[in-house]
Amino acid sequence: MVTLAVTLLRQNARRLALGFGVVALIAGCAAGDEAPVVVAPSSSSPTTAPPATTTTTLPPATTTTTAGPAPLVPGVHVDWAAIDPAGEAKAVVTPTGIVLPVVGLDGDRYVVTTPCAQQATVSGTPLTGANVVIDAGHGGDEPGAVGRVHGLTEKEVNLAIAEQTKQLLEEAGATVVLTRTADYRITLATRGALATALAPQAFVSIHHNAEPDGPWDGPGNETYYQIASPDSKRLAGLVWEEIHEAFAPFAVSWVADTDAGAKYRLASSGGDYYGILKRTAGVAAVLSEAAFISNPPEEELLLTDDFRHAEALAIARAVVRYLGTPDQGSGYTTPYDRTEPAGGGGGTSGCEDPALE
Ligand SMILES: [Zn+2]
Repeated sequence: MVTLAVTLLRQNARRLALGFGVVALIAGCAAGDEAPVVVAPSSSSPTTAPPATTTTTLPPATTTTTAGPAPLVPGVHVDWAAIDPAGEAKAVVTPTGIVLPVVGLDGDRYVVTTPCAQQATVSGTPLTGANVVIDAGHGGDEPGAVGRVHGLTEKEVNLAIAEQTKQLLEEAGATVVLTRTADYRITLATRGALATALAPQAFVSIHHNAEPDGPWDGPGNETYYQIASPDSKRLAGLVWEEIHEAFAPFAVSWVADTDAGAKYRLASSGGDYYGILKRTAGVAAVLSEAAFISNPPEEELLLTDDFRHAEALAIARAVVRYLGTPDQGSGYTTPYDRTEPAGGGGGTSGCEDPALE
């Protein structure tokens, strides 16, 4: 009884908060299900270097400069797990750039699970593993949450930030695979199958939020972790902390849920509520809900290169700190009970696969 009463009080508080102006979007973003995976086929056509025609005498090296970009987190080194390029194909990049988990071989072709979770046989470039898998939420006819002023779709922002995060981590030496590489629908089942097949050291699902409780004095970013995984929890605290610090300098009218932070959501059965966190069990996975795309000032921010870069850099830095330090992150909070379903999606109903070849 006590629990029920508290729950009702919280629900009433939430309704009141919602009442003052933040209209809930229908498709809340947190569908744990959805988007396709695509690893941008790193067009590895080797460029033919021009023949060296001159022999230049180099001046004596006076400084020893370590080539390469500035580290994402100064002083932190990550030992990325070695990936054997000659190893078994865990996934494949099809000629149209779709990344699919491999379930078998058929001669010189791959038997795969398609974005719509069907079986198909395709040709393509094999992937034998990944250090990091980045998952851009939603896609195709599942746009996720939609901004109310510019109609900015979550699926578009999620992919743009996933691509930037991939690039930053690759510059830091990681092998990174995206679950979705373009604007197509992809089931939670296929996303999860990609993650478990590639067995990355970290998995981040990128989303943007809707349906806040109300205004907030600072960024209302949230990061969900797998309830049974201490590794997922630590990664979530780092993602939350990095995003919070990266967003704070942007002074806008933020919104949030009153329990914003690094947190979990339980299904009625007791396990993880979000499909993407359930289907990645065994991999340290988190679901990041960064800015609220449903909040006009934050939708404006999400249209800018500066803000997108800040978010991508924050996620990349969090992954580096997760793998290269014992840092615990911050923002851990106990979520209030939620009864309203997250925006659906991610299933196979009505799903149409993109062209695979
Ligand atoms: Zn979403």
